[in-house]
This record gives sequence, structure tokens and C-alpha cells, in this order.
Amino acid sequence: MMKSVLGSLVALWLCLQGFSLYSQNQQSQHSGEIYFSFEIASPFELETLTRIISIDNVTGNLVRAYANMVGFQKIAEMGYVCDILAHPGDLLTKEQLRPPGSGKGSLTNWDYYPTYQEYIDFMYDFAATYPDICIVVPIGTSVLGREIIALKISDNVNDSEAEPEFFYTSSIHGDETTGYVLMLHLIDHLLSNYGIDPRISEMVNTTEIFINPLANPDGTYWGGNNSVYGARRFNANGIDLNRNYPDPEDGPHPDGNAWQAETIHFMAFADSNHFVMGANFHGGAEVFNYPWDTWAKLAADDLWWQFVGREYVDTVYLYGPWNYFSGFNNGITNGYQWYTISGGRQDFMNYWHADREVTLEISDIKLLPASQLLNYWEYNYRSLLNYMDEVNYGVQGVITDSVTGEPLQARILIPGHDSDNSYVDSKLPSGFYSRLLYEGTYGLRFSSTGYFPKTVYNVSVTNRETTYLDIELVPLNVAQNEPRTERFSMVYPNPSDGEIELTLPETGRFKANVSCFSMNGNLVFSTELDVSDGQAAVRLDIGNLSAGLYLVRLVLGNSSYTDRVVIR
Ligand SMILES: [Zn+2]
Repeated sequence: MMKSVLGSLVALWLCLQGFSLYSQNQQSQHSGEIYFSFEIASPFELETLTRIISIDNVTGNLVRAYANMVGFQKIAEMGYVCDILAHPGDLLTKEQLRPPGSGKGSLTNWDYYPTYQEYIDFMYDFAATYPDICIVVPIGTSVLGREIIALKISDNVNDSEAEPEFFYTSSIHGDETTGYVLMLHLIDHLLSNYGIDPRISEMVNTTEIFINPLANPDGTYWGGNNSVYGARRFNANGIDLNRNYPDPEDGPHPDGNAWQAETIHFMAFADSNHFVMGANFHGGAEVFNYPWDTWAKLAADDLWWQFVGREYVDTVYLYGPWNYFSGFNNGITNGYQWYTISGGRQDFMNYWHADREVTLEISDIKLLPASQLLNYWEYNYRSLLNYMDEVNYGVQGVITDSVTGEPLQARILIPGHDSDNSYVDSKLPSGFYSRLLYEGTYGLRFSSTGYFPKTVYNVSVTNRETTYLDIELVPLNVAQNEPRTERFSMVYPNPSDGEIELTLPETGRFKANVSCFSMNGNLVFSTELDVSDGQAAVRLDIGNLSAGLYLVRLVLGNSSYTDRVVIR
């Protein structure tokens, strides 16, 4: 007992000693954000550590992490011996981040990090230059009042169409800036090639693309608005935003902190859109990190994740240097297998928004020298486009009310396959849904409040192809939108062997329309009968229907009546 307390005190002293040395040697302003490494005996220690400090990377038993002073002291008190490391945001000079002559006359050569104001101007200029396909979508403002914005790029850009929504966001960790400039480059690439490159035109015409290059502007511009020099991981309150989301396993506040302004804005942004797929970009590693991060369970669509991950990384291998994305399972990893985190936005978006969002670590060096930015574009841009293409594969279609034709918000669930909220919902006003799937044969169940659920079996999916499946759902009261709808006991005998007699509730009309629906909402029988001679009943043969319960609908002029029949 005595020994372990003493050991902890020695460790704390070592850590604090290290910190004070570091502080003395560090000339630049710092935020109190400490970057350090230490060793663990077992990966299970990470489950606890991730709630105290912000783990950045784990290689074998070596952990690199960030912490504010409080978190740092806590883990020192736990007995970990820490090495303070130089902060990644301070390693380069301002000139290496913005070399004289970069931009080469045109500011959009993407070979430097823009100032904060240049960044904002670029975003609004894109929308002004391409108003038919690009608008600025405000997400919110940071703790210090900087703008957090996305661009929406699509045809009919002001409308929500029957198209999947895709979302790229970068640099939630403010000192991981490669994705920041690559996203600006990608925006420029999409806009300037629209109407020129058929592939880009089709992508913009069939997808609602949202791109937010800078998710944590206070972190990135911690050193001032004129340079990314001094960039910090955390937001202005010293909080890791990628540990600040509700967590499927660990509850609403896994990091013990209130939701930050940035987190609240991004949660509202997810609520007001309907993202199907996306990525959030990081640095400090090179790996496609797919769900889940919080627990060891595999995602329902684990095979799909591995497929799109392989596609991303295998393409990178064709254009990057030999050692790029070379670690892990050839550049991809299940998040939990690398190291567990709680409160990450990847798991939040997957679990609560059915958004297939991946964590993409695209450069081992967090704050890449500006001279490398065009190289990293070259390594990645084809993969960035391939990954966006994937949002239009799988199964997609529009769900409508079978009576009115109105688009519906409905749920699409694959029994026996879906788990942990992996079902998707259709969106309004279009009724459009998209279910991304690895190739195979699936049964999709469509349901919506007030409608008969409907299951479509043997839906065939092929990788990199689209299966279109439009669905009509039958209202529970099939005639609720028509006047004078009544339940009327009209079927005799019931149960029946197939020969039935329908008692007509009124006479004197010219036509009677009879239809039968199966209990999953499929129209299975329909006929029109002449009843103009005033008869009180009609006879029907529905003996070719398989045994089961059916809904019978009789329409006489403007009135409709429903009953149920059991076929033996
Ligand atoms: Zn990161």
C-alpha cells in the first residue's frame, strides 16, 4: 500500500517536473493543452483512461494523448510515467505553413493554409460564383464566435430532392489540418468540373453533397487568425470535441463535460439534415477507422465497411508513396480494435442518425508542411470521389401512400441483419430512402405509423450498383382519405374457401370496385363489377389467394367500406 502511494507520488513528481521543464523550454503561447506519451500494461486500461484524457494514438503499449492540466495530473496520480512531447501545432514555422509565393497568384492553388478570413471568403465566394449548384449552409458559431459553415453542392441546390445526402467534415481536432485544405480543394474540384467532367456532373446531379472543411476553427486558429501555427486539438474551453458527443454505450456525457457550442451546433445540423454517409477527417495516423469505437461489437454492415475501406485505401496505394496507409490491416481498422474511445462523433452519427460516417486519418503528420498539401491531394482525391460514389449504391427508392401517392416518412429494417440502430428512415418531403449494403440478398421491411408494414424479400444487391425499389404502403384504414369510409361486415362466409358473397351496403350505384390486400399491404386482387341493376350482393371467387387474412375494400362511388376475410 505504502509502496504504491509512494510510486504514484514519484510518478506525479516526474510528470510535473517534465511539464515545468517543457514550459520553460516552450517559447510560444500555449493553451494549457499538454501532448505526452506513456505506457500501459493492457489495452483494457484504455476504457478508463479515455474518460480522463484524450487518447490520440496507441501503438503496441505506447499511448500518445492530450490533456489539460487537470486530466494530466489525474493520470500522473494513477501512477503512469509520462513523457511530455512537443505539441504538433508548434513544430513548423509560419513560413513552412504558408511559404512566400504559395498560391502563385491564384489563391486557389491549395498549396498553403489560408488565414481564417481567407477561408471564410473562399466559402462565400464559391457560393457566389456557382449559385446554381452551391450554397453556404451555416452550422453555427464556435465558443469564440468564429463561423462554422458547410457548403451544399447539388443541382436544384435550394431544394431537398429524392437524393442521398453525403457529408464530409474535417479537423474537429484543430491541429489535424490536412483534411481542411483537401476539403477546400475538393469543393473547388467539384464546382469547377461540373458540366465538364461527366462523372462529377452525375455526382452533383444525383447527390446532395455537404462539405465542412473546418469543424473546430478556434482550435485550428488558436495561435491567431493569420496562421494555423500554434493550432490546438481542443476547442477554446480545452475540450476534445471528438469525445464530447453522446455515446451509445456510455451515455449522454461520456467525457463528463457539458456539450460544447460546437457539439450542439453539429447535433442540430445532423437533426436538420438526413445524412446517409460521410467521413470526418483527422491526422496523426493513416488509417480508415470504421465503427464502432466504443464497443467490441461489430457493425451490422461490417462487410460493407471493409469493402468501402478497402476501396478507399487500395486506390490510395496506386497513387501514394510505398509507406502511405501501410499500417493496421493494410490501412483499415475496426475502431475498437485500434483503441476504444467514448463520445466520438463517428459512433454518434452512426447510432443516432443512421449516417455511415467513418473516421479517416489521412496523414501521420498532423500539421503537414504546406509544400506537401498538393501531394496529399494527389494521393487521396480519387479515393475521396470513389467514397462519395458509394452513397448512391445499395438499395434506394421512394416510399409513398398507396391511396394518395403522398411521400411517406417510413422505416426500412432488415430483420435478422440490422442491429444497433442500423435501420434507415426515408426523408420528407420526397419520401426518399437509401440503404447502403454489401452485396447479397436481403429482405427489407418497410413500416410507417398508420400503415400496413410491407416486407419485400429477395432484394438483390451488387457492389457498386444501385438497386431501385419504390414502395407503396397501404393505410391501415385504407379509405381514410375518402369521404364516408366505414367498417362494414359484408363478407360471407368468413372464413371462406375462396367463394365469397359481398353484401352491398347500398344500392343504386353503377360500379363497384373490390380490392383485396395482404396483411403486409400488397394489393393481391382487384376487380370492377357492374351493380347498376340494384342487386343487394355480389359473388366473387378469390380462391387463388393463398391461405391467410386479407383486407377487403369495396368502393361504391364516393363511399368505401372495408372488411376482413380469412381464406382457409
Ligand atoms: Zn483526431
